[in-house]
Amino acid sequence: MGFEVEASWRRPGMAARTTRPAARERVRAAFGAALDRLIPPDEAVALKGALFVDFEDQVEALVRAVAPTALEERAALAEEARVDAAGRCPHCGSGRVYLEKQVTQPERRSPHGPVVVPQQQARCRACGGSFSPSGAGLGVAERGSVDGAGGGAGGAGDGGADV
Ligand SMILES: [Zn+2]
Repeated sequence: MGFEVEASWRRPGMAARTTRPAARERVRAAFGAALDRLIPPDEAVALKGALFVDFEDQVEALVRAVAPTALEERAALAEEARVDAAGRCPHCGSGRVYLEKQVTQPERRSPHGPVVVPQQQARCRACGGSFSPSGAGLGVAERGSVDGAGGGAGGAGDGGADV
């Protein structure tokens, strides 16, 4: 019976920050605007550039305009994007933690420019430390350093439960 309860709580307290339709619409809008700049739908508007290198620059500009939005929306769809419990303090292991109301909007670098991925903040009543409970698994680590980011993660079951 206890197992059944557990099974129905597979990802307790985690949710995406957006919905697929909303995410798709935002990416589509970003792409539409960028496409209108690259290839204006109005035939009366002259196409820009003449050389292949110009076209390369224009397409690169399109990618830079769309990629960050696509990345932000994909990140917002991650199951881990939002938690409703802070878990344990990664500094002292205490469970006396709470989520702060404010969400930070840190800017991250992506290969195509800055990306904003909102980040929840939590505070520990035992040691006063602050940490980001949702920062653990959500692509916030620099590429290739996911394993090395364990220090600040402190996810559930992170041991050290000397409360
Ligand atoms: Zn603490």
